[in-house]
Amino acid sequence: MSATEALVAYEGLADRLHLVQAGIADACKSAGRDVSETTLIVVTKFHPASLVRALAELGVTDVGENRHQEAQQKSGELADLDLNWHYIGQLQTKKARQAAQYASAIHSIDRARLVEALAPIDSRLDVFLQINLTDDPGRGGAAPTEIEPLAEQILATETLTLRGVMAVAPLEEAPEAAFARLAGYSERVRALDPAASAISAGMTHDYAAAIAAGATHLRIGSAITGNRPDAR
Ligand SMILES: *Cc1c(COP(=O)(O)O)cnc(C)c1O
Repeated sequence: MSATEALVAYEGLADRLHLVQAGIADACKSAGRDVSETTLIVVTKFHPASLVRALAELGVTDVGENRHQEAQQKSGELADLDLNWHYIGQLQTKKARQAAQYASAIHSIDRARLVEALAPIDSRLDVFLQINLTDDPGRGGAAPTEIEPLAEQILATETLTLRGVMAVAPLEEAPEAAFARLAGYSERVRALDPAASAISAGMTHDYAAAIAAGATHLRIGSAITGNRPDAR
């Protein structure tokens, strides 16, 4: 499918993208922030490569994926495009080095073994320390008590650049409260490295609250792509 065919096939995509971009601009204005402080990552998981191509045609530069095999395949298929691929899902230690080959950033660094697995890569990789905002250790993300040791380990790893923190707001809590905690965790990381100031937070239903709490990297999917074809 050519880029033009893809745009025709995904009718409504441009409108939804522009609506979200306007929503981001509004939220930034309310928060007294400049839109240029934010990066919109369009989450394209479960959608075909042709939809990502249509997004690129619309000017999108950053896309997010949460399954390694799917991300690897799509990024390979779209290697002719100059896209930044953000890996935002749970990552198996044994797949980490493969993910580093296509990803410009990995947002889901949540344990020491993952950092160790990424240490021997050939080039530098941007990473975010994912923090679990729930009490359920089964969810992705490091526990808040692990923030300093994990951040120190990343900072001591030459191949990794610590950009900041990442989290998903729990469903069972107001996002404002969850993102306020995240802002506090971000301060703890910045105390170790002032440059690690990014906050990856904010999805379709809570991006305005995330922007109000200082989010810099917004991971927005369904509001732009429409419903996922095979949501799991
Ligand atoms: C799917 C996903 C998103 C985007 O979710 P939407 O509600 O569709 O905007 C953001 N972050 C992560 C980690 C995801 O898995």
